[in-house]
Amino acid sequence: MTQAKTITGKDPQRGVAVEITYGRTILAIRDVGDDPVRNLPVIAPGFIDGQVNGYGGCDLNAEDVTPGTVGRITSMLSRIGVTTWVPTIVTAPEDAITHALEQISQACKDDPSSRTAIPCVHIEGPFISDQDGPRGVHNADYVRGLDAEEVQRWLRASGMVGIVTVSPHALDAPEQIAKIRELGVEVAIGHTHASPAQIRAAIASGARLATHLGNGIATTLPRHPNPLWTQLADDRLSAGLIADGHHLPTDTLKVMIRAKTTERAYLVSDSTALAGSEPGRHRTSVGGVVDLSPEGRLSYVGTDLLAGAAATLPDGFRNVIRNVGLNIAEALTMVTSTPARVIPGTRPGLGQLRVGAPADLVLITGEGPEAGTITKVVQSGREVSGAAA
Ligand SMILES: [Zn+2]
Repeated sequence: MTQAKTITGKDPQRGVAVEITYGRTILAIRDVGDDPVRNLPVIAPGFIDGQVNGYGGCDLNAEDVTPGTVGRITSMLSRIGVTTWVPTIVTAPEDAITHALEQISQACKDDPSSRTAIPCVHIEGPFISDQDGPRGVHNADYVRGLDAEEVQRWLRASGMVGIVTVSPHALDAPEQIAKIRELGVEVAIGHTHASPAQIRAAIASGARLATHLGNGIATTLPRHPNPLWTQLADDRLSAGLIADGHHLPTDTLKVMIRAKTTERAYLVSDSTALAGSEPGRHRTSVGGVVDLSPEGRLSYVGTDLLAGAAATLPDGFRNVIRNVGLNIAEALTMVTSTPARVIPGTRPGLGQLRVGAPADLVLITGEGPEAGTITKVVQSGREVSGAAA
């Protein structure tokens, strides 16, 4: 039996000071009056990152991925306040996808922290656009047609497959998407050259997510109609947005958040193993040889194509507060309750401050130049040391 602990902070939704008692879950929440509120940090659920390819030199898409790779990412992400994350495997031969899935499953069996931190696995590809541009840096050699039977084989390797990103541009896309939904897997639209009509058909067949909306699409589109407007307009679709300040210009990000609302837009890092690395030229299994600029822009050498991101989810959170102009409560929704609701496999109450919810908690500086900075992290009731995001 873990001894109950307490933590005090300002509830950003209600603006009142609360004292939270917790073990592995939140046991009690008590209002403690208004007086000290001004100086208190904001208390919030731990952050949830729906798209992580790697972090801190660990790469889920490398051939040598092991359960240890997964455990190290869980541990490093918790230190920056990301207490739930979705491992994301990109386009690759089927045996490589299966191998990565097996490593992640094994990690969740061996390591209790990874078991609680990882709700499911996201397979981004291989059923995506084969065209330069929308394909991004996914390897064209391994892009293939939508195939629900392959998804079924992945599920045999690991029941953790929760999301698959597809381009619904082919004639059989609606039928294949419906079959994947019947397997209990969420379908996300992404890396696509599909037409607005094909996007609508995919949604009608059960696609409910958009993967990094505004990226993984042609650089030039008709002003209207185009697939971005269709995905923004349809309220059945929740959209992941890379908020690192490089993938989406501030105006675009702001308008997308307004169109989707914070209930249907959630922030993702799309981080690669290079997140947290020194600027310069690097090799990555996600995008071959890439350049990391001093501003944190990660691009495929010799092109403008972005090769994933080097920023973290807390970086994106601060970006939407400082540059997009969201308040802390709005920004928090997009890294806590909204991803908890739309990502499959999340634990009950995750992303919310309520009794019975997992005791994944962060303290955040609420005001001043350091607003949005995470200063303390609790994961499953245990204080994580060295928190500084
Ligand atoms: Zn992508």
